[in-house]
Amino acid sequence: MGNGAQGMDCRHFIDGQYIDLGASPTFDNINPATEQVIGRIAEGGKAEVDLAVAAAKRAFNNGWKQSKLSERAAILRKIGDIILHRKDELAMLETMDTGKPLWLSTNIDMVRSAGSYHFYANFISTMGTDAYPMEQGAMNFVVRRPLGVVGMINPWNLPLLLLSAKLAPALAMGNTVVLKPARWTPMTATLLGEICKEAGLPDGVINIVNGAGRSVGEAMAEHPDIRAIAFTGETSTGKSIMKAGAASLKRLSFELGGKNPNIIFADCDLDEVVDTSLRSSFINQGAVCLCGSRIYVQRPIYEQFLERFAERTKQQIVGDPLQPNTNIGALISKQHYERVLEYIELAKQEGGQVIAGGGPARVSDKGYYVEPTIITSLTQDCRVIGEEIFGPVVTVQPFDTEEEVIGYANDTHYGLSASVWTKDSSRAFRVAHAIEAGLTWVNTWFLRDPRTPYGGEKMSGIGRQGGMFSLDFYSEVSTICIKY
Ligand code: NAD
Repeated sequence: MGNGAQGMDCRHFIDGQYIDLGASPTFDNINPATEQVIGRIAEGGKAEVDLAVAAAKRAFNNGWKQSKLSERAAILRKIGDIILHRKDELAMLETMDTGKPLWLSTNIDMVRSAGSYHFYANFISTMGTDAYPMEQGAMNFVVRRPLGVVGMINPWNLPLLLLSAKLAPALAMGNTVVLKPARWTPMTATLLGEICKEAGLPDGVINIVNGAGRSVGEAMAEHPDIRAIAFTGETSTGKSIMKAGAASLKRLSFELGGKNPNIIFADCDLDEVVDTSLRSSFINQGAVCLCGSRIYVQRPIYEQFLERFAERTKQQIVGDPLQPNTNIGALISKQHYERVLEYIELAKQEGGQVIAGGGPARVSDKGYYVEPTIITSLTQDCRVIGEEIFGPVVTVQPFDTEEEVIGYANDTHYGLSASVWTKDSSRAFRVAHAIEAGLTWVNTWFLRDPRTPYGGEKMSGIGRQGGMFSLDFYSEVSTICIKY
């Protein structure tokens, strides 16, 4: 990324104003593709969280909770429009923060982020409510009120996109928000402050506090005036947030880790499977929670799949995120890069055979690049099969029967997503239904109507997002029963 792209300093955004960095503590923001410092980030703590919550509480009580639905829909629509209008600038910042290819930031992260605001603007504009008449001469109505101040704690892999999936329904329901971007990726979230202000969002409705999980995140989880926390991140962090939020009995939405099976039966369309498996394995450097990192292939086509998949994997271009032909960019940080390489070494110690990739990618003498890596010959009990790596590393194992592969798929404490490839529709349904995952795809991947529930089973999460499911989370749902 040597073309002189500019980063920015990331300040807190509280009560409609950016807080000057002044003499407050900061830390450096590093571009993982170049290892260059691209700005300073304000290091917040409990004091800033307290200020942000107080501002959010005032904004809630001073008008936002009574705001008209049409007013909120118009603001959401405008936020989506501004994101699309500033798409190229925002995508560049997202790429500098994350190391992901610019085409991906532009076409997926920014487009889908804007889509969340547009979707909820339309959704609330047409939504009704449930009503149940009773024979005793009574009518029950289900009504929704906003919760008040809600907190959002976000990961680094899809910074603006995952944040928008939370923020849009929370604002749609009339809540005010304190949000914390991931420490590694604060730039697009920080700009959201000015974007929301330009869209007409009143001061204090959205507040952004930058900093570390252990200080800002924990202070949010403990804060008695934050009614709910929507968190996306690692399962272990979710457990800490749950503990910290217990005293104030916080409502929680958790989108956590995954180790998703990609199940390929012999009667699949192999061309399509190879194409999609490349994406579901390595897109965003393998750091999408929905990536299919455990590939199971039915024995009659195992060798054929492996040969074609390995050949295509070796052709993937790892390189400068700004180049349009780059498939795989840099990993988020030195620490994560080392962790992913350690897993590759562990796979070898566990008896795995590396049939593509297997080490650092030589792009330049700077940056945290790892080759897309395929590992075979591991058994189900290996750590590399069981633990989330969140990098461009997949395992491939053969299987014989449907029962056997369902057993493998469910043999994990995670349960986020799965994909099944077969032309037999009865089997597709049987297998999809038997898999313990919040979302199972058949003959596709990464496709979902935004009205459907999204979330994980087992250690992959608590609750569901999407459509009405998000609106339920961000509101008090209550019943009014009228006797007539
Ligand atoms: P992480 O858990 O390390 O961090 C996520 C956020 O939590 C960051 O903002 C961090 O600063 C904050 N945090 C850290 N410790 C905290 C604490 N004690 N209290 C409060 N906040 C704290 O996760 P990450 O490395 O940023 O993201 C990768 C993880 O996210 C992977 O496990 C991935 O599977 C998961 N993820 C899940 C989904 C999903 O939809 N299920 C989507 C994307 C990512």
